[in-house]
Amino acid sequence: MPADVPCSRIAPSPTGPLHLGNACTFLVNWALARNLGWRLVLRIEDLDQDRARAAGDTGTEESLRWLGIDHDGEVVRQSERLDSFARAMERLAAAGLIYESPHSRAEVREAAAALGAPHADDAPVRFPASLRPPPGPAWSFTRRDVNHRLRIDPGTITVHDRVAGEHAFDPGAREGDCIVWTKSGFPSYQLAVTVDDIAQGVTDVVRGDDLLSSAALQSIIHRALGAEPPRWWHLPLICEADGARMAKRHGALALSELRAQGVDAGRVRGLAAQWIGAIAAPRPLAPDAFRALVTEPILRAWHVGTRSASPCLDERSLQWLHDS
Ligand code: GLU
Repeated sequence: MPADVPCSRIAPSPTGPLHLGNACTFLVNWALARNLGWRLVLRIEDLDQDRARAAGDTGTEESLRWLGIDHDGEVVRQSERLDSFARAMERLAAAGLIYESPHSRAEVREAAAALGAPHADDAPVRFPASLRPPPGPAWSFTRRDVNHRLRIDPGTITVHDRVAGEHAFDPGAREGDCIVWTKSGFPSYQLAVTVDDIAQGVTDVVRGDDLLSSAALQSIIHRALGAEPPRWWHLPLICEADGARMAKRHGALALSELRAQGVDAGRVRGLAAQWIGAIAAPRPLAPDAFRALVTEPILRAWHVGTRSASPCLDERSLQWLHDS
């Protein structure tokens, strides 16, 4: 495949089985890739080994196959790419952008409070620049067993999202310098995802809009590594019947369970098509029929519609999945 072919990726973390919200996001990602002639790679983001081990076999690849989602090339596992992440850290160190940051969370909070910055309970604590070490040996990547931060100066980053529209963020002013390497010897999510998106030639990132603000930070890391950020397509999230965001860690209904119960994957695709607003009532859909319904205007209208109500897995949808 020539290098100038656009590329997207499906990047699940095996910290729990996939749920219907993941199914909807991944189906749309797959449909866009196949409609627009992108390459589509599968990357298993398994750096959180403790949580992945605790989750056991999540059946992620089987669930994707069951949904009719295929991908191009070999599956990439982040746990096998530690050397690449370390090389990216060396590059950031050579540019004078990272430093060792041994401070505990409590120390960071205390130093932020000492600056008198007002702090809402749900806002992230801004890492105070006063805790940056002076120029010297700490601005390096010689030890893998200490947290490292990337210097992020204040400044507005505008994310031009193909689905969610334009959003301005200021990660330097809001969170300050971010952790890119942890003392457990692994890169942070933000670093690993960016290094891999660059390495895999990803031009189009399609994912849930809980990661919209991360796009600003990841754009900074892309540029620090000498690459242009990808195009972003952040999709609305699906809710549970009570309006809570569907999440693995809150025990969302697993696709593997639906499959074991004999649910037809065509019904999952039909429900996803209804959730994105492509059809008014669900009907079983073959993969290609689902794919034909996914267009940019549909995705934008879905996003606008979720300002008043988000699609959710209510009793009727559940019942419909199990009808046959
Ligand atoms: N692995 C992340 C997750 O499962 C997604 C990362 C991304 O799409 O950037 O939440």
